[in-house]
Amino acid sequence: MKSRSGPNGVHIFDRLTGLNVLLDELRPEEAAWSVSPRQVSIALTNVCDLQCAYCYAPKHKASLQADQVLGWLKELDAEGCHGIGFGGGEPTLHPDFVGICKKVSEETQLAVTFTTHGHRLTSKMVEQLKGSVHFARISVDGIGSTYEAQRGRRFDELLRGLDSISILSPFGINVVVNERTVAELDAISELAQRVGASEFLLLPQQATKGGEAMNEMVGRALQDWVSNYRGKVRLAVSEAGASGLPTCDPLPDERGLQAYAHIDASGMLRATSYSAAGAKIGGAGVLSALKQLRSTFEIKREKRS
Ligand code: SF4
Repeated sequence: MKSRSGPNGVHIFDRLTGLNVLLDELRPEEAAWSVSPRQVSIALTNVCDLQCAYCYAPKHKASLQADQVLGWLKELDAEGCHGIGFGGGEPTLHPDFVGICKKVSEETQLAVTFTTHGHRLTSKMVEQLKGSVHFARISVDGIGSTYEAQRGRRFDELLRGLDSISILSPFGINVVVNERTVAELDAISELAQRVGASEFLLLPQQATKGGEAMNEMVGRALQDWVSNYRGKVRLAVSEAGASGLPTCDPLPDERGLQAYAHIDASGMLRATSYSAAGAKIGGAGVLSALKQLRSTFEIKREKRS
């Protein structure tokens, strides 16, 4: 069990069971709030062997070093971070992916999670990762030919990836919601239930260099679908694109960099993977970059007011 303090109380988290307990009767002074964001995502590499049109990952080649990553995560762990999500690019293409997960799991109290397209999850990799990953996410952007058109890979290969991930750890299914996938949300959520997923994460498509954001019509269809959803798998939605959807936020005052930050494959700390503003993580470490990024945002806020 690990705890962090913030504006909504003391938040206790168990990475093995996923249990979260918020002691909201306790309201620590601001000076005692945890410095680290609650969750941090890290793009271990920009490299990917797929070419999805809506991909937001930068296309220049960049990857992080295992030692760098471990050092940053130890800093964040000591300052109250609860979990880390590895992504990319495709994180399983990082040459030290397995070693990084093992070390973070052994040497920190962080929950280790990652998001994958699922096509490289061999039984050997699953065996190596077992016990070092607390939750995994796999992208399922459509069923059958829809998936194949969007991801350029065979759907039956994805189903094999789903079999592998279900052996590895508790897992969730992600879907980029756009004009093609919105009509298949029922089918994808049924698949999620059938394969034993514990979360169905909706990712309303964001604008990228290669594609447009989810349009209004799709947004309305998504709102209807969520309102009528009666499935058993827990629904979640990314913060970007959640507007208009009925969401529940147990930590409403823990905002921005208190709640979340992203580290890209070039070692820049950002508020999200889509943010233009960032702070380079240098020799002084990730907490120093966090301080710098916070002051950049404060200066911008002051200029606006
Ligand atoms: S699998 Fe993910 S990282 Fe790779 S191209 Fe598709 S969206 Fe981008």
